[in-house]
Amino acid sequence: MTALISDTSPQTVVFGSGTRYRVKDYLKALGCERALVLSTPQQSDIAMDVAAGLNGSVAGVFTCAAMHTPVDVTTSALEHAREINADCLVAVGGGSTTGLGKALALRTDMPQIVIPTTYAGSEATPILGQTENGVKTTLTDAKVLPEVILYDPDLTLSLPIGMTVTSGLNAMAHASEALYAQDRTLDSSALAANGLRAFKTALPALIKDPQDTAAREEAQQGAYACGAVLGQVGMALHHKLCHTLGGSFDLPHAETHAIVLPHAIHFNAVAVPELLQQVSAIFGGDEPGQALWSFAKEIGAPLALQDLGLKESDLDRATEIALSKPYWNPICLIAHIGRTPERSPPPAFAPFCRMRGLALLLGRKRREDPMNKQADIPDFIKALPRAYFTEEDSAEVVTGQNVNAKDERLKEIMGAVTRHLHAAIKEIEPTQEEWMKAILYLTATGHKSDDWRQEFILLSDVLGVSMLVDAINSRRPKGASENTVLGPFHIGGTPEYEMGFNICLDGKGEDMVARGRVLDVDGNPLEGVKIDVWQANDEGFYDVQQKGIQPDFNLRGVFRTGKDGTYWFKAVRPQHYSIPDDGPVGDLLYALGRHPYRPAHLHYIISKEGYDEVTTHIFDPDDIYINNDAVFGVKESLIADFVKIEDPAKIAEMGFDGPFYWDVEFDFVLAPKEDK
Ligand code: NAD
Repeated sequence: MTALISDTSPQTVVFGSGTRYRVKDYLKALGCERALVLSTPQQSDIAMDVAAGLNGSVAGVFTCAAMHTPVDVTTSALEHAREINADCLVAVGGGSTTGLGKALALRTDMPQIVIPTTYAGSEATPILGQTENGVKTTLTDAKVLPEVILYDPDLTLSLPIGMTVTSGLNAMAHASEALYAQDRTLDSSALAANGLRAFKTALPALIKDPQDTAAREEAQQGAYACGAVLGQVGMALHHKLCHTLGGSFDLPHAETHAIVLPHAIHFNAVAVPELLQQVSAIFGGDEPGQALWSFAKEIGAPLALQDLGLKESDLDRATEIALSKPYWNPICLIAHIGRTPERSPPPAFAPFCRMRGLALLLGRKRREDPMNKQADIPDFIKALPRAYFTEEDSAEVVTGQNVNAKDERLKEIMGAVTRHLHAAIKEIEPTQEEWMKAILYLTATGHKSDDWRQEFILLSDVLGVSMLVDAINSRRPKGASENTVLGPFHIGGTPEYEMGFNICLDGKGEDMVARGRVLDVDGNPLEGVKIDVWQANDEGFYDVQQKGIQPDFNLRGVFRTGKDGTYWFKAVRPQHYSIPDDGPVGDLLYALGRHPYRPAHLHYIISKEGYDEVTTHIFDPDDIYINNDAVFGVKESLIADFVKIEDPAKIAEMGFDGPFYWDVEFDFVLAPKEDK
C-alpha cells in the first residue's frame, strides 16, 4: 500500500512497501540531480541499495552519521557535500542519519528526502539537536524540516526487536509530553493520542511477529504522528533529562527515553492529572506513569538507567546540567525566588531542594517500578531505628542512628561524646542565647586558627584535655619519669654537642648548669641516651619566636649520656611565659578569672632504643606560676631543685664570670618499651 498523507503539511509524506524505490521521482519533483546519500556505518548497505536505485542522480554516499549529531561529523560531511557538488540530501536510517541531514540542510539549505528506518520521529520536525564538547543543544529552524518523508515498512523489518521497542517508546515520549505542553492545541493533543494508540497496538504485535509488515507500517504511522506533534509543541522535563543523559553522559538515545518516560510522566502527573488521563485511558490503569511502566515492562523494554551505565555519582552532575537551562515543565523546576510562603524553605535553599527532588527522580529511574516507593528506600535507611525525639531519651535516640557506622571506633567515640554532651546540656539547661553564644565561641575559635596558630589545641590545653590524653597514652611503671605536653616549639635539626656545652648562644640570662643521670627502672645507668633539650630564654621567649633577635638554635641542644649515664650542659635559668591570649582562649581564661602563664621549665625528649621515649619538662619550683600552669603541664615528680651556687671556686670551675649560677640536678628514669 502506498498512501500520501496531508496536502496541507509543508512536507510530502508517503507510506508503503517499496516507497524507497521512488526517491528518484521526488528528486525530480524537487528539481535535484546530485543527491548525497547519508547513513550510519551500520545502515550503509541500505544506503548503497537506495543510491543504486538513483541511477545517475547520485553524487556520493556518506556513511559516517553518528548518534546525537556531533558537530565534527557534520563538518566532514559538509566538506564532502561541497567536494561532490551535491544539490540535495537523501537520509536513509534512524534519527542519527536524519539529524545529519538536518544539520547539513541548516548550513546549505539543500532539500532533504528522509527514508526513516526507526521510529524516532525526527523526520517530522523542524528541530535539530547537535552535540559539541559534551553538551547537546537544540534549535528549531524551518530550513531543517525535511521536504519529503518516505516511510517504507520493509526497511524496518530488520530493526531488532529491542530497538523496535525502545525506538517506539522514544516516539511515545514526544506524544506523552505533548499532552501537557504549554502551547498544546486540541489538534496537537489529538495527534499525540493517535501516535500513542498506534504504538499501543503495533508494539505488542511486533513482539509476537517482528516481520508483521502491517504492524511495522502502523508503527511508522505512530512515529510520524509522534514526530509531527513534537514539531508542533514544546517538550518538558522528560526531554531535558534525556538530552542531558545522552549529550553529557553518552547514554543511548532510544533506551534512555524508554527508561525515563514512565518516571518523568509519573513525576509530572501530580500537576496535570487530567491532561495525562489520556495515557491511562490508552494503556490501562489509574496512574499514567504506572500505565506506561507496565506497558514498557510487558514489551520487554529496559527499565533501569544503571543498566545503561549511569552511576550513582553521576546523578548530581546530571541534575545540575538538566537544571542549568531547564525547559518549561508543569512542575516548576527552579524555585520561584522572592515568594516565600511561611513554611517553604528560604529562597536561597529552594533551588537546592528542587535539585534534590530531581536527583531523586533520576535516582528512582535507576530502579524499576515508579510507583514502588519502598524500592527507593536504600537498605541503609531501612536499617535505621525510628528516631522520635524525647528529652528523656535524647542521647539514645541520637546514638541509635549510628547503627550503620562504617567505623566501630568512630561509633564508640561519637556515642560517648553524644551521651556526655547531652548530659552536660541537661545539667546546664542553657537558654537559646547561651547555646548560640557557645556556637559562636567555637566558630571564633575556628576563625582564629590558621597554618601558624591552632586555637583549638590551645583550648584543649587550657581545658586540661591535652594533658589528659597525654597521661592516658603515657602510662608507665612506678618510678619511671612522667610525660608532659610537647608544646609547640620543638624543632628538628638541633645540633648535637659535647657534654658540658653552653647552649645559651647569646650569653643573656642567669647562668645555669643542668645535670643528672638517666637510669633504668632498676637504678642502672643508661649509656648513649639521646637528650634533646630546649627552653625559653630569661625573657620567656623561644628562639623561633624571636627570629633575628636570638641566634638560631639558641637554648637548644642534643646530648648523649656517657657510660655512667650522666649528662650535663650549661644554659640560663628559664622564665615563665604566656600562652597566646589574644584570641577566644585568652578571653575564656580571663572570663574565668584565670591567667595564661606557664611556669618556667626546660623541655626534654629522652630516648633510647628499647625504652619508652619520654617527652617531658622539668619545672622551677620558685616560679610564681608553679602551682597554676595554664595548661596543667606540671606534675609533682617533674619539679626540680634550682640551687644557687655562689662559691667563686665552683663558678670559676664552670667557666662562668658572674657572681653566681644555678645548679639543677635531675635524674630521668626510662621504662623498657614492652612495659608500657
Ligand atoms: P539511530 O539512528 O542511531 O539508530 C539506532 C540504532 O538502530 C543504530 O545502531 C542503527 O544502526 C540501528 N538501526 C537503524 N535502523 C535500523 C534498521 N532498519 N535495521 C537494523 N538496525 C537499524 O538512532 P535513533 O534512535 O533512530 O534516533 C536517535 C537520534 O535521533 C538522536 O540523536 C536523537 O537526538 C535524534 N532525534 C531527533 C529528533 C528531532 O526532532 N530532532 C527527534 C527524535 C530523535
